[in-house]
Amino acid sequence: MSTIAENIAKVGARIREAAQASQRNLTDIGLLAVSKTKPAAAIREAHAAGLRDFGENYLQEALEKQTELSDLPLIWHFIGPIQSNKTRPIAEHFDWVHSVDRLKIAQRLSEQRPAHLPSLNICLQVNVSAEDSKSGCSPEALPELAKAVAALPNLRLRGLMAIPEPTDDIAAQHAAFAHLRQLRDDLALDLDTLSMGMSHDLEAAIAEGATWVRIGTALFGARDYGQPTH
Ligand SMILES: *Cc1c(COP(=O)(O)O)cnc(C)c1O
Repeated sequence: MSTIAENIAKVGARIREAAQASQRNLTDIGLLAVSKTKPAAAIREAHAAGLRDFGENYLQEALEKQTELSDLPLIWHFIGPIQSNKTRPIAEHFDWVHSVDRLKIAQRLSEQRPAHLPSLNICLQVNVSAEDSKSGCSPEALPELAKAVAALPNLRLRGLMAIPEPTDDIAAQHAAFAHLRQLRDDLALDLDTLSMGMSHDLEAAIAEGATWVRIGTALFGARDYGQPTH
């Protein structure tokens, strides 16, 4: 078995155990493989081992890998910060966008989504750690943003996403994820998605209701940012 296939088995076991521990249905929890900085060959290997959904943060890098992998039926998720002049290729080449945090970006994605494609699945990124440096809309701004995005054509608002401040404090991990779930539940919208949990905190995220866990390091190994890939 390759290292990636072994890692997928290990992450799968962690997800299964976490689902069991919180009596959740395994089919309600998706594994999104975060392949940023990793070569197309790694994605091909992960696909051969059973994965289908891949998350990318850097547009140019993602487009190059998509071209190389166009023979595979992959589902692509954009999870990185979005500049407004980059929305068109995102609207054209992705199935999901997890990192929408302002209306202008959503409006552009809506206008630029090609008519022959299904609605673009959207998660609103929320800053649940109240850190100035992080992207994500504030919990206070969320209700108005969600209402406006839900009304846009060519988009399907699915739920919320967060990247809480990394911490080894398990109680703090639970608190941040529970906060995101509460924000989702408080919106009077029919939202089925919570994109939360990464390699180090997927257990807490699943316990608090994650429907996508976004896993990079635990699947593909540590990232090397020494060689710029974008
Ligand atoms: C890089 C990244 C991940 C994956 O993080 P790991 O700790 O490597 O699992 C998940 N979500 C987002 C938005 C990321 O940028």
